[in-house]
Amino acid sequence: MNKGVLVVISGFSGSGKGTMMKELVSNYEGYALSISATTRKPREGEEDGREYFFKTEEEFKKMINEDAFLEHACYVGNYYGTPKAYVEKMLNEGKNVLLEIEIQGALNIKKQMPDAALIFILPPSAEELKRRLIGRGTESMDVIEARLNRAKEEAEGIENYDYVIVNDKLDESVAALDNLITGLKCGTFRNIDFINKIRDGVKRF
Ligand code: ADP
Ligand code: 5GP
Repeated sequence: MNKGVLVVISGFSGSGKGTMMKELVSNYEGYALSISATTRKPREGEEDGREYFFKTEEEFKKMINEDAFLEHACYVGNYYGTPKAYVEKMLNEGKNVLLEIEIQGALNIKKQMPDAALIFILPPSAEELKRRLIGRGTESMDVIEARLNRAKEEAEGIENYDYVIVNDKLDESVAALDNLITGLKCGTFRNIDFINKIRDGVKRF
């Protein structure tokens, strides 16, 4: 079985990347969404083990010491990390694994796994970004401001990503994301087992 693509998705808070991930996993085949651990408090409607594994700071630090993370980072006052075991298992099962993480984590993954595809989700405009973040209604104005400030820094790092997708109409942007990842899966180096199988068959002619 050929390995799946490790896909790293980032974007400004409120760009709609979380919504896109949910749609992609529910409506398209062959994806596994990695669930991160975080010290952030759950938002209304979020469940432990579904959106995140919600941890105390002590629990999070213990996981760091046990080398349980592929990467971890601090974002606007909270820790976030990608548990290693699930990602490796799903890639070996041929699934395309989605990591929805911020920019420091994305760059860290690229260093360790250069074959990972880094995709940055853009809003259709800066005004629409602000509207979406405020409209989500899950953060206080202070936190919204801190996240918009963080967007200024993140905007400087977009060229480190391999691809960008504009999340204007949700269905269209999710379809574009699936098309992109499906294309990446055709990479020669990702299909070497199958190529060798055909090669052996052809040699026997
Ligand atoms: P992120 O995960 O990037 O912080 P969310 O997925 O939480 O962002 O989306 C932020 C808000 O924008 C949510 O209220 C969501 O319903 C809305 N949203 C997401 N995608 C779109 C879209 N394509 N068009 C309009 N609203 C959107
Ligand atoms: P939120 O609090 O809005 O769910 O997430 C805040 C930011 O943390 C987002 O940019 C999200 O992509 C990022 N994030 C979520 N999980 C991880 C993770 O495991 N590692 C890193 N580095 N960032 C993460």
